[in-house]
Amino acid sequence: MGKEHKDNFIIRYFKQLLLLLVPLNCGGCGKNDVVFCQNCQEDLAKQIHPQYINKEYKLGKVITGGKYEGVLRQVILNWKDHGRDDLDYLIDKIINKILCNLDISYNSSNILIIPAPSSRISKTKRGKDQGVILGKKILNNIKSAHLYPILIQKSIKKQVNYSGLERQINKRDKIRIKTITKVYKNKKYILVDDIITTGATIRECQKALSSVGIVPDLTIALAST
Ligand SMILES: [Zn+2]
Repeated sequence: MGKEHKDNFIIRYFKQLLLLLVPLNCGGCGKNDVVFCQNCQEDLAKQIHPQYINKEYKLGKVITGGKYEGVLRQVILNWKDHGRDDLDYLIDKIINKILCNLDISYNSSNILIIPAPSSRISKTKRGKDQGVILGKKILNNIKSAHLYPILIQKSIKKQVNYSGLERQINKRDKIRIKTITKVYKNKKYILVDDIITTGATIRECQKALSSVGIVPDLTIALAST
């Protein structure tokens, strides 16, 4: 077992243990003793509203699950940053809804799913690679597709305290393509990321992908601002 894998395993193990010890609270509003309360379920159902967004990222059509605010934002944050793996089923719901709203058919076997990369630091801290997890969730719905994790991100400084602009600068040129990457001319590529806020991350992805001539047909994110 590699060190990173071992670390991930230990983090996951303790997270499971913590879930048994710490009283539950709602992944939306924080209310006690419930994983996800009735009110939040209703709010989330209203808020998941997949839409193509109009920004020009040169990443094909860009679709997101809804506005990154309210309960949708809270669920994604808790799932992604606060170790709430028990909210996984809600992330599945968002992904399913997005895929149901695609206006293109993706039933061929020509699809490669490219996850936006996480830094090694965040992978270790969170005990999981969210891009890959999201990619796999899409695979569950498009069975004939394949995961193609060719983007990597060098470890960068902690970003929580940076403003949007500083974060953009901090990320500059940190995402790149794995050295030996095969580019398939007859495949469709789907890029997947968790959220689109400043667009800095997916712009970095676009730059890296275009350096080897890959232009995704579609980009999927759980939510966008
Ligand atoms: Zn709630």
